[in-house]
Amino acid sequence: MSNLLVEKTQVQETRSARSTPDIARSEGRKASILEAIGETPVVRLNHVGPAHVELYAKLEAFNPMGSVKDRLALAVIEAAEKSGELLPGQTVIEATSGNTGIGLAMVCAQKGYPLVIVMAENFSVERRKLLRFLGAKVILTPAAERGTGTFRTAEQLAEKHGWFFCRQFENQANADIHRRTTGQEILNDFQDIGLDYWVTGFGTGGTLNGVARALKASSPETKIVVAEPENSQILNSSIPQLRRPDGAAARSHPNSRAHPIQGWSPDYIPKLAGDVHDAGLIDFFQPVSGADALKISQELARREGIFCGPSGGATVAAALHLASKVPPGSTILAMIPDTGERYLSTPLFERIAVDMTEEEKEIAASAPPPAKSKSRPEKSKPIAISGAARSFVRSAIHDPEAPVVMFGFEWCEFCWSVRRLFEDAGIPFKAIDVDSTDFRADDRGGDILRALFDETGMRTVPQVFVGGELIGGATEVLASAGNGMLSKRLVGLAKPIHACTVNDPMGYLPTWVRKPSAPNTVRGANGSAS
Ligand code: PMP
Repeated sequence: MSNLLVEKTQVQETRSARSTPDIARSEGRKASILEAIGETPVVRLNHVGPAHVELYAKLEAFNPMGSVKDRLALAVIEAAEKSGELLPGQTVIEATSGNTGIGLAMVCAQKGYPLVIVMAENFSVERRKLLRFLGAKVILTPAAERGTGTFRTAEQLAEKHGWFFCRQFENQANADIHRRTTGQEILNDFQDIGLDYWVTGFGTGGTLNGVARALKASSPETKIVVAEPENSQILNSSIPQLRRPDGAAARSHPNSRAHPIQGWSPDYIPKLAGDVHDAGLIDFFQPVSGADALKISQELARREGIFCGPSGGATVAAALHLASKVPPGSTILAMIPDTGERYLSTPLFERIAVDMTEEEKEIAASAPPPAKSKSRPEKSKPIAISGAARSFVRSAIHDPEAPVVMFGFEWCEFCWSVRRLFEDAGIPFKAIDVDSTDFRADDRGGDILRALFDETGMRTVPQVFVGGELIGGATEVLASAGNGMLSKRLVGLAKPIHACTVNDPMGYLPTWVRKPSAPNTVRGANGSAS
């Protein structure tokens, strides 16, 4: 067993590194979300590994946006601010498969930079949505152009518009932040028991480059183990990567193949990864199959309660292969770069059912039927409807100033379907939300609802009227938008309304009432780095 050569000076350096502006931690209260980056936990894996080793994982999902790339995002932006390459309010652009973009979106939101992310179309839709939710613009490139195509598009856009291009694959700030933070955190966490093997994959190679340098400097006995997709071993090959003078890859590596481990091994060897190899810092390579990556991700969830994406599963799979070959008592640490929530639409969740499984149906059926009450249910007394509510309903239905009116609830999903359709089609409408605070006093909302039900004979909401005529509920409104009836009624109004055409109006219904969608086709995506 090796012991970490962490000397006093090293620990001191660690402390001062923590108070540098790139990760300015403070205990307790944070000055902003950016101070919550880093200091991720290392946890023991108690069930998935063999008993003769001490197996640990470092959980980068504990970063604020759920991945290791939060570190790089902060580092790259702050390095560019310092060097003057990035000016206040300047747009930031990056080519990424997602996690870097999500980290950058957090940093740019906090610091006030507009952000454009260029991403291949085959990466999970959750990532696109997350990015847009965080205020970034997302530009998609064809899957067939792979990582090199995404990079080229980002580079061209940066040049054309004078935007700051992060260049995570070549940017030394990406590796340095890992040397100063991730690497030092590992040294601290293992200074008492020592670390024999550190296992990682690589995307940009930032984690590998920075942590390998920190470990080799302060704990030379720790072996650096690099995992690669079995079918796409590029760093573990004798074929060099062709590069442009600025270090960027000139073309795809001949050994690269599409693989399902998103965030790992792009179709070329990034400079940061190549530099670690050239410096002789890698002790072993461990290939991992895509199937193993997905299997171990799920095992980590079910047996350890650790929820991670395929690259975390792949790294632990590599650590397990290694564990079968190392001496008893060895300590192994595997990096787990992100959380599993980003992969709901990918093969990782392909076999996870949406509807009740047979076993679940059996459990459901085993519940005792509700006991039949012997006494007859008391008939609730009808509540009187006020004249004011009746005339409110009638005048709202026939209001010439608001010919399109919807009675509904503020937070009813079906009402939202109609709202979104009307908004997208440019149809001005009046919403009368009977559950809103406006109608709360003396149960005025309930009174209006009862008056509405009494008027139409329909006992559900929403109820939508056009020019005084009842169209129906959400399904009827969406259907009439689809078959042209709604447009006909709108143009027939005293003041005609010309609605825009909306694609697939039924698609506005809540997801759980729509027909199950076609099986996912995001298969064999090249997991180029994020
Ligand atoms: N896994 C995932 C899910 C990632 O997004 C990344 C980043 N590309 C990595 C692993 C690898 O990290 P790095 O870029 O530091 O090599």
